[in-house]
Amino acid sequence: MKNLLAPSTLEFTHTKNPAALAEMERAEILADPGFGKHFTDHMVDICWSARGGWHRPRVQPYGPIALDPAAAVLHYAQEIFEGLKAYRHPDGSIQSFRPEANARRMQRSAVRLALPELPTEYFIASLRALIAADADWVPDAPETSLYIRPFMFAKEAFLGVRPAEKVNYYVIASPAGAYFPGGVTPVSIWLSTDYSRAGRGGMGAAKTGGNYAASLVAQAEAYDQGCAQVLFLDSEEGRYIEELGGMNVVLVKKDGTLVTPESSSILEGITLDSILQLAQDRGHAVERRRVSIDEWKDGVASGDITEVFACGTAAVVTPIALLKGRDFSVGDADAPAGELTMSLRQELTDIQYGRVADRHHWLTRLDA
Ligand SMILES: *Cc1c(COP(=O)(O)O)cnc(C)c1O
Repeated sequence: MKNLLAPSTLEFTHTKNPAALAEMERAEILADPGFGKHFTDHMVDICWSARGGWHRPRVQPYGPIALDPAAAVLHYAQEIFEGLKAYRHPDGSIQSFRPEANARRMQRSAVRLALPELPTEYFIASLRALIAADADWVPDAPETSLYIRPFMFAKEAFLGVRPAEKVNYYVIASPAGAYFPGGVTPVSIWLSTDYSRAGRGGMGAAKTGGNYAASLVAQAEAYDQGCAQVLFLDSEEGRYIEELGGMNVVLVKKDGTLVTPESSSILEGITLDSILQLAQDRGHAVERRRVSIDEWKDGVASGDITEVFACGTAAVVTPIALLKGRDFSVGDADAPAGELTMSLRQELTDIQYGRVADRHHWLTRLDA
């Protein structure tokens, strides 16, 4: 749905949280934040209605959302989200990484889920509004960040099946510790053959909770098999690799070529796109094409594939040491992380944390 009634600027009203944590309490959380467990003092809330467009932008105390039990999202899962990080730079500024790409992806997700498109300026303004209230929640220890979670869902109380005419957009944020506090460790991956996460014409390319709901039973199977994550295949032939539950996959060939699956049911990762750009800058060839599971298995067995990794905002880059299926496994669970994998990871995080020059102009300042 196009949003025809959008005013050109958003004036957020700010309501301070009277129960905001004291500096000491916050410091205690920031010393060991974990992931997704603690939330900042405030949240952003913008309303949308079919008649009034986007309106009532607010920064208010973080807290429960009142929902009518008939709210469409609870019945038909009309919901989308985004995920990005705010990084504390050495000069004290707070920066985010390619937030316009998150804004555009949220617009594409919105189109697929018949939700209203939030203009890019509003998306960026919403991040800045939250940071204005909660800047002190951006940690400064190495490899820590503030994980920002924008999301939008159908709030209209109506059990008929059609796109909702009342929607809310929110932004919450959660301090995040280093994903691999003891150093980056390669993981084992479970190949799901009983379940798909998305199919042709489905929602695979949208960042929506429904895709995660579809992945959870396979993810539980992965844990049972001693694996950290699950790899999904295409739903039609069960032959081509797609992605993990929430991360994209890259294979590195002996000649230095990076290969990543292309499919209409894969979520287009911003971390993936950035990593491939950095590799291309170094002269590596990059192939985006269909990749069969046999190419992975045979390639690792023959030595033609030398490294495999997964990437996404939360963990940045995760080396994959072993792929395990019902009747096979390839790789070695104890193998060290690949050299190129680790050096691309280092380069990307150096840019994100302001340790090297941002030559692609990927950073956007949020605190000014
Ligand atoms: C968010 C997400 C990714 C990774 O995207 P980034 O922009 O790199 O964080 C990959 N796959 C799925 C299914 C996702 O939801």
